[in-house]
Amino acid sequence: MLHQVSDRSSGSDGQNKASLREDLQEFLSREAPLHQLDDLTKVNSVTLETVLRCLHARYMADMFYTNAGCTLVALNPFKLVPQLYTPELMREYHSAPQPEKLKPHIFTVAEQTYRNVKSLIDPVNQSIVVSGESGAGKTWTSRCLMKFYAVVAAAPTSWESPKIAERIEQRILNSNPVMEAFGNACTLRNNNSSRFGKFIQLQLNRAQQMTGAAVQTYLLEKTRVAYQASSERNFHIFYQIYKGASEDERFQWHLPKGATFSWLPNAERTLEEDCFEVTREAMMHLGIDIPTQNNIFKVLAGLLHLGNVRFADSEDEAHPCQLMDSAKCFVRTSASLLGLHEDTLLETVQIRTIRAGRQQQVFRKPCSRGECDTRRDCLAKVVYARLFDWLVSVINSSICADPDSWTAFIGLLDVYGFESFPDNSLEQLCINYANEKLQQHFVAHYLRAQQEEYALEGLEWSFVNYQDNQTCLDLIEGSPISICSLLNEECRLNRPSSAAQLQVRIESALADSPCLGHNRLSQEPSFIVVHYAGPVRYLTAGLVEKNKDPVPPELTELLQLSHDPLLTVLFPTQPKEKTQEEPSGQSRAPVLTVVSKFKASLEQLLLVLHSTTPHYIRCIKPNSQGQPQTFFQEEVVSQLEACGLVETIHISAAGFPIRVSHQNFLERYALLRRLGPHMPSGLRSPHATRGYSGQLARTEEATLQTVLRDLLHALPALTQVAATPADPL
Ligand code: ADP
Ligand code: MG
Repeated sequence: MLHQVSDRSSGSDGQNKASLREDLQEFLSREAPLHQLDDLTKVNSVTLETVLRCLHARYMADMFYTNAGCTLVALNPFKLVPQLYTPELMREYHSAPQPEKLKPHIFTVAEQTYRNVKSLIDPVNQSIVVSGESGAGKTWTSRCLMKFYAVVAAAPTSWESPKIAERIEQRILNSNPVMEAFGNACTLRNNNSSRFGKFIQLQLNRAQQMTGAAVQTYLLEKTRVAYQASSERNFHIFYQIYKGASEDERFQWHLPKGATFSWLPNAERTLEEDCFEVTREAMMHLGIDIPTQNNIFKVLAGLLHLGNVRFADSEDEAHPCQLMDSAKCFVRTSASLLGLHEDTLLETVQIRTIRAGRQQQVFRKPCSRGECDTRRDCLAKVVYARLFDWLVSVINSSICADPDSWTAFIGLLDVYGFESFPDNSLEQLCINYANEKLQQHFVAHYLRAQQEEYALEGLEWSFVNYQDNQTCLDLIEGSPISICSLLNEECRLNRPSSAAQLQVRIESALADSPCLGHNRLSQEPSFIVVHYAGPVRYLTAGLVEKNKDPVPPELTELLQLSHDPLLTVLFPTQPKEKTQEEPSGQSRAPVLTVVSKFKASLEQLLLVLHSTTPHYIRCIKPNSQGQPQTFFQEEVVSQLEACGLVETIHISAAGFPIRVSHQNFLERYALLRRLGPHMPSGLRSPHATRGYSGQLARTEEATLQTVLRDLLHALPALTQVAATPADPL
């Protein structure tokens, strides 16, 4: 290229000028085709628009992974791309001397993570945080990462574990179909949407072999058992049983072909997730034997029958609600499948027992129809939630390694992304709170990485203007007063209060917070939290009740009476708690609310994350129809906002938004050499470009901001040079 310049410049003055102008234009317009830019921070300059254009171009060119500094952006292909996930490709990334030089891939992140564990004298734990909105590909990505480690970190086959299916890696992989069958469901946004958060710790020994794993789950959406929004479905497992049971099992579980269940909507839709056999086989490999499996399915069939139990209002004041005649058979079948006495089941759902007074006298109060429905649903939810937790503990005992057999771990976090619907409630508050925490963790890490990079480049910079999201976190979880503390206080006081009163309490107590917005347009009582990803309106109606998540003690006591072997394990009879003997209102035990339990588990998770070196994969859904080759810019922007990438882009822009590799810099601005003595001193030799290109061997990065300024200064000289023939370079 240098020769080309000098050849052309050796003509007459006019020619020379013209050719120089052409050269200049060509050099300045010369950019790598957008889809070839594999790092968004190398886009010139880093703005939302250029970042979008680059992602779009790459998506259309079937390049689904792009680096964004210390993050990997993963676009959902919405089509099978098997060649991207073969064991051969896994091995290629694993054995590459510099995997970061290969095309961006989740395997690069996986391999770098894996090497980080190994390369240090003291093993350091690692984590990979996979985030994104529902349907963006988090679970798919986490599964692929697990498969990667199952291939590259497998212990050599020994005589002790000859069969593949018995090997620990295989067992760990088998935990996926089981957890997905019980914890995933078809929603409007994803046919296989995870209704819980998951952190899996892959345990490695000194030889870097996977010896086991431990799973922690967060906030299962148990309401789905008894309530499914229109066009959505219950958890997959119910459909799997309903569609996949043998004749004999149908008979035992009272699931005749064609039977309809109100908690089994949209059963006519066929999904690939409906495969019962896969779940059963995976359960087998995890050590859940056939009788136990059948017991689980029998209990679930019992819940389906419970869902068909219907009540009607009655004129009788003493019994304001009665069982509908058509529902009698469902009570009978449900009771029999749950190992309960039919009358006791019905009575417990219909009659509330209240303990009051110093003597804790028991009063029985018949429930209204609405209360009966709530109690029926509550029964199903508590059974399902305990069953799910029990399954997780069984999976853990099957895959967890002996504490002496591992020295480091790689944690994979598959967590629900930021959510904002027209109406939001406690679920979204918890989810967005978690995302706010993770964002803070990410930004702190990202800033640290940036500062370190700038220090290496010898650049002085501080992100003084950067606003972090602590104020929003203070509003949600801070002390002494925050949204969480106010909700917990309402639960503790147990006073009747309306949605409007709660709104007033929140707005007046937290009026000083800049992150609390007021929704004057809304008819319904609500408040707005200005999250890093945008404002979200939360309705106050039902917040306190959801936070309490009350399970009437009679329901638990009923389940303790069950003679079903599984329910006996899920609801063991405990010695009466002391507090129950105490007069009501004087118990000092703190109320364990949903928010306080969630906060505690989140803090635990962050402690673990802080003790690791984090890596981030941001999954993006290019369109909400699940179509391949379709990229909707607005949808992508809102996700870039929600996963904090826009924020990261702004931080990058606040630093040095234009970056170019030293090689490209030299090629592109070789023309400057013709300035000869007029060349700004900073550009005179590659050595002198240290200020721009820094420690070349380490980062190969140059920041062009300063260079451009120098160029501007040099422009008059450049014009002059254009008029005179230059020395050949
Ligand atoms: P999330 O867990 O973020 O809600 P999923 O991981 O379940 O989303 O992905 C939703 C769907 O998108 C998957 O069921 C699959 O059909 C498709 N998908 C996601 N990632 C990929 C991929 N890398 N290749 C092919 N299909 C994918
Ligand atoms: Mg998922």
